[in-house]
Amino acid sequence: MGWPDVEMRELISRDRLQARISELGAQITEDYRGRELVLICVLKGSFLFTADLSRRIELPIEIDFLGVSSYGDSTSSSGVVQITSDLTHPIGGKEVLLVEDIVDTGLTMTYLLENLQTRRPNSVRICTLLYKNIEKNHHLTIDYCGFEIPPEFVVGYGLDYMQKYRNLDYIGVLTNPTP
Ligand code: 5GP
Repeated sequence: MGWPDVEMRELISRDRLQARISELGAQITEDYRGRELVLICVLKGSFLFTADLSRRIELPIEIDFLGVSSYGDSTSSSGVVQITSDLTHPIGGKEVLLVEDIVDTGLTMTYLLENLQTRRPNSVRICTLLYKNIEKNHHLTIDYCGFEIPPEFVVGYGLDYMQKYRNLDYIGVLTNPTP
């Protein structure tokens, strides 16, 4: 059986991903020089993005992890955001950068922004690899964005379908998903 084992159309190649992540890393390095930056990896989807982005930031950053579940195993939003595992260190007085795989409805980021603000960080910004449905998200400020994409369900490079395909090194569209 070939790999991947389903029909997949490549949307963003490995090389384009890596080139854009290098640009984001350089920009973040400039913006946060001399400040205490904490990257918060929003699990599970942004584990690869955070790993690559963090290695392109040339500053002594901290990295923490926030487990969030918003979709269950479906390809559309359940509308319910749940923190499944919390940060291990306080963020009070620090500069926080939330690292997300994809913003769709903006619900997850809006919820996390409000939640993290109650912990009194100095600032909270959002860095997302992918931004879908921009017109739906006019209330949300995205500080760093890798790629704007059309409203299709994507997988790969951390993003799953039924918990699979996170280990692809590109972003693809499943051409025949079963809902
Ligand atoms: P939002 O709350 O902005 O609607 O959705 C954010 C979360 O939904 C993301 O962190 C991601 O886990 C999931 N999500 C949204 N769109 C997609 C998609 O096209 N593919 C996958 N695999 N997950 C998505």
